[in-house]
Amino acid sequence: MTNITESKRFSKFDSARLIDADKAHYMHGYHVFDDHREQGSLTIVDGEGAHIQDAEGQRYLDAVGGMWCTNIGLGREEMVEAIADQTRRLAYSNSFCDMANDRAIELSEKLAELAPGDLNRVFLTTGGSTAVDTAIRLVHFYQNCRGKPEKKQVITRINAYHGSTYLTMSLGGKQADRPPEFDFLSDGIHHLSCPYPYREAQGRSEAEFLEALVAEFEARIAEVGAERIGAFLAEPIMGSGGVIIPPEGYHRRMWEVCRRHDILYISDEVVTSFGRLGHFFASEDEFGVIPDIITTAKGLTSGYQPLGACIFSERLWEVIAEPGTGRCFSHGFTYSGHPVACAAALKNIEIIEREALLPRAREVGRYFEERLATLAELPIVGEVRAKCFMACVEFVADKATRELFPEELNIGEWVHLRAERRGLLVRPIVHLNVMSPAVTLTHQEVDFIVDVLRDSILETVEDLR
Ligand code: PLP
Repeated sequence: MTNITESKRFSKFDSARLIDADKAHYMHGYHVFDDHREQGSLTIVDGEGAHIQDAEGQRYLDAVGGMWCTNIGLGREEMVEAIADQTRRLAYSNSFCDMANDRAIELSEKLAELAPGDLNRVFLTTGGSTAVDTAIRLVHFYQNCRGKPEKKQVITRINAYHGSTYLTMSLGGKQADRPPEFDFLSDGIHHLSCPYPYREAQGRSEAEFLEALVAEFEARIAEVGAERIGAFLAEPIMGSGGVIIPPEGYHRRMWEVCRRHDILYISDEVVTSFGRLGHFFASEDEFGVIPDIITTAKGLTSGYQPLGACIFSERLWEVIAEPGTGRCFSHGFTYSGHPVACAAALKNIEIIEREALLPRAREVGRYFEERLATLAELPIVGEVRAKCFMACVEFVADKATRELFPEELNIGEWVHLRAERRGLLVRPIVHLNVMSPAVTLTHQEVDFIVDVLRDSILETVEDLR
């Protein structure tokens, strides 16, 4: 394994060249054009475990976990070998029509074993957005097959993130992702309130807030008509929306409403699966729900290869694949079931099982939650939200009124830059610092994150004076 503290793969000259080439040619999503032009980017060239190194040789603990995805940590030789072996043996084969490859079949079988209930059917995609896109197309297909073509509208939530295609971005509900320069679909998509106790409960107890959220769902169904609603789509814990942990019992109650009204429940587990919350899938183990459809990606390969999956129930399969109908699901991507990506996923799952990473993640995750909670006493910290390896610190100008700093101040970035100088990367989202590190983190690495965050927050408080 490369020791990145010693690795100097890029000289200063290379780094300057990379900075120029980046500015000249590489358009990154979500990078403000002016910032890119003026400041360039943080160019990462190496990684091991939870650590990464930039082109100038600076090392960081990556508490972002790549992008919620490097669950088993970077630089694992076993993963490299599995990917290399598969590339040598069969680098590509398509998964259209009557074609399949052994790795894609083995992975589908394994996912069916790991998924809750009768979710035994697997459609492999290229990532999370294409998994969610597939889930919505599956809902349409299913409703048409059962003779309910009008039952296709989808209910999602404010602050949700479901991907970056035209459809999945329209399903999402983050205002920041809806700049006026982009267009969005609105027909047939409805957004419910965000189950965000800190900002939305407004003096109500958690139980009262939950009742209001369920009542809102029922009211929306009455307004739109259950006969027109095909699916409810929800992340178990909203990730990019700010690690929003819903009130206790929320998912179970929303699922019961879905059952009552014949609405499919889609759990978007692109972030929450494969150890991030200490389970393979969080829907059943953490939230007591067996969805009709689960979407997953990210931790499925721990970021070693791009891959996603849409896993759905036998109940749906029996309708869409009814014998004698001659139907086929005319949907797929060139890289659906990519053998190298599937080999990476299989090895990743083998490592999670062999190293008992799930119970370990739950144990260290609890320690992470406890240590992070100590930051709540700091002056500009409004709330600390953490569940296992999903965490967020929310900054406020006034702890009593929960008033936010002006958006232009970009308070999350202030803290993030001070943490970055100390060798820690967190993800700033306006007034938040979001974290999702490798689930293999040690207690010492947890301590490092919390200590650096504390120092960076205190330095920010000083600098704001
Ligand atoms: N769904 C959720 C909950 C996500 O957080 C993301 C990405 O962050 C996606 C879907 C989209 O996944 P991808 O970026 O792999 O397309």
